Amino acid sequence: MPRHIQTTLLDPTPRAPVGFRSLATATHRGSTTLFASAREVRDDWCPERVPYAYGLHGTPTSLELAARVAQLEGAEHCFITPGGQAAIALVYFAFCGAGDHVLVPQSAYGPNNDLARDLLARLGIAVQTYDPMIGAEIATLIRPNTTLIWCESPGSATMEIQDVPAIAEVARAAGVVLALDNTYASGVFFDAYAHGVDVSIQALTKYIGGHSDLLLGSVSTCSDVHYQALGQARSLLGMAVSPDDCSLALRGLQTLWVRLAQLQASTLQVAHWLKARPEVERVLHPALPDCPGHGVWLRDFTGSTSVFSVVFRPTLSGEALLDFIDRLNLFHLGYSWGGVTSLVAPHFNLDRDVRQYGDRLVRFNIGLEHVDDLIADLEHAFFQADNHGDGQ
Ligand SMILES: *Cc1c(COP(=O)(O)O)cnc(C)c1O
Repeated sequence: MPRHIQTTLLDPTPRAPVGFRSLATATHRGSTTLFASAREVRDDWCPERVPYAYGLHGTPTSLELAARVAQLEGAEHCFITPGGQAAIALVYFAFCGAGDHVLVPQSAYGPNNDLARDLLARLGIAVQTYDPMIGAEIATLIRPNTTLIWCESPGSATMEIQDVPAIAEVARAAGVVLALDNTYASGVFFDAYAHGVDVSIQALTKYIGGHSDLLLGSVSTCSDVHYQALGQARSLLGMAVSPDDCSLALRGLQTLWVRLAQLQASTLQVAHWLKARPEVERVLHPALPDCPGHGVWLRDFTGSTSVFSVVFRPTLSGEALLDFIDRLNLFHLGYSWGGVTSLVAPHFNLDRDVRQYGDRLVRFNIGLEHVDDLIADLEHAFFQADNHGDGQ
């Protein structure tokens, strides 16, 4: 009996002519993914054991993105997560349980510390913050129950460059997992694995997405043991990602190199220009000597990117600084960074014991606008401050 058209319409098998090739990675969607026979039906997150058990564990598009990020970072394995913060959460869930102790730099991405203080504390995981400039002295903070150390270099807002190799040596001797938030260097300008890191995370939202239109994260590792722990936790937490977003991130990867080269050059130019202004006390850019850990940056990094902070002189009040920011036209106000648009945000009275700079710290993210226009915009905002007598 011929099938009803109602049934025929449901057939998902494509019948396109053969020979189609394009330069774009195909977007493969799928929650249900099909097994060939009843004996093969098995739920397993690991693509080496079961290639496609369920969309949660990956489609060809998300697995391709994972493979490309692993290749970029020189890692053996990589997982894609729904965002950078999800990547951070995944690392905690893979390596920590009740009664464990974790060390996090005070300069870590704010929501990392918030997660530790709130949710992880409720689950009985003790999180202690440390001065990011601690280096090998971190040995004095390790307890018998320490299972994880975080590094983030440069730190968020205050931009400290950490001595990751020194911390890695201590972590290895103590059998503690060392995780690095490598978002700033985007897996390009800092080789996590050559410097002793066990697990590297990135907010792909930033440079790899590159256009402020998606949220994704990555967690990579060279260790098979850590790979299994991360894969199990990711599957249990149900950290699904959209193949459409992964396809945008794959496109972002194609221009990552040229975007970073341009961003590096423009950012250095703006940072040096700001450093010469009378209103500016310090420019916290890894390539400038004002930045804590600048010597470590020279030793360990091969480049710099688009985010840096400026500490203004106390002659400009916090209120005058907010007015200065509001006079900028090309620098927009908003969270995140690493896209094509320049951004600015005040980071006043940061919640940390060391180097918090009161109401004088402003973070800039340089985009792909012409650098002369960006400098003209800053100059105009400073000029107005002078004219109105702000900052007296
Ligand atoms: C933005 C950011 C994150 C979080 O990324 P989302 O994708 O926004 O969740 C994590 N770490 C660092 C250093 C970041 O700048």
